[in-house]
Amino acid sequence: MKLLRALYPERVICVACGRPSDGEFLCSKCEEELAALRLDSPGQHAAYHYDGVAKKLVHHLKYDCLTASATVLAREISRCAVQLHLSPDTVVTWVTMPDLRRKMRGIDHGRVLAQAVALRLGLPARQLLIRSGKHPLRTQRGSSKAKRLRNLVGMFSPVEEMPKYVLLVDDVTTTGATMETCCACLRRAGAQVTHLAATKVV
Ligand SMILES: [Zn+2]
Repeated sequence: MKLLRALYPERVICVACGRPSDGEFLCSKCEEELAALRLDSPGQHAAYHYDGVAKKLVHHLKYDCLTASATVLAREISRCAVQLHLSPDTVVTWVTMPDLRRKMRGIDHGRVLAQAVALRLGLPARQLLIRSGKHPLRTQRGSSKAKRLRNLVGMFSPVEEMPKYVLLVDDVTTTGATMETCCACLRRAGAQVTHLAATKVV
């Protein structure tokens, strides 16, 4: 799959499955499957179920550094954001990754996704959270929400110049602990925060 992508430019093969895509990021089959994964209500604060093609796109975004995946996911996140009637002064931000992990992966995929959403919405994207955690390599996978929240205490601090309106974007939300922690941090710094994830584990 990686080799295929290296050989072909974007919009020749499908970002999700690698089959011919007729000039689109996704082939028609994957496009259909992705549409079926859409979460209906903006009250869910997420665009898709974390499953099938949506899960593949998040995985590609995270581990293959594939900005085309961000572009595809940003379409639906932006559509949800429009339904939330954001202020025109909103700044889009992301859950900042620990330095060490970013160095290992070579890219901050949260930033790439936030920038793709900001581009579609015509809003600026800016880093507003500083990561100050002591356990940069510990993942939260499989932990309960209470445990996740405990682990996240003191992990984030806000930048000094906080905008009034913020849209926080993330790739996947499970218990919502990370989003809650980051939103609380931004709110304490004076921002009115809306959050949206590309996918939600349900
Ligand atoms: Zn496909």
